[in-house]
Amino acid sequence: MDCLFCKIINREIPAEIVFEDDQVLAFEDINPQAPTHLLVIPKRHIATLNDLGEGDDALVGRLTGTAARLARERGFAEEGYRVVMNCNDHGGQTVYHIHMHLMGGRRFTWPAG
Ligand code: C5P
Repeated sequence: MDCLFCKIINREIPAEIVFEDDQVLAFEDINPQAPTHLLVIPKRHIATLNDLGEGDDALVGRLTGTAARLARERGFAEEGYRVVMNCNDHGGQTVYHIHMHLMGGRRFTWPAG
């Protein structure tokens, strides 16, 4: 499958991996938008949020729990941080393997652009 993030999972292209378990992987975003900008992804290929099935609730919970734990470990959980999942064209999705952005270390504004 020609998927960039599957290739990162399979170590076919390099990435700065910061966490891995049986279901998820987290790595440094190549174009960081904050002092910390990590991507948390499922190891199973799921193209968009629209492709999640009923049985995937626990997997999404694992992504969220991993992001929250990484935020604590990085020391910015109390100050606060931003998690984002973009879906399809209008959502700004550019890589079609779902991913949770975890950004911390600065103040974010709302609404998002
Ligand atoms: O949500 P969206 O699909 O736009 O985010 C994709 C993210 O993947 C971008 O933040 C981009 O910098 C990142 N990326 C990466 N490594 C790559 C290609 C893209 O971290 N090799």
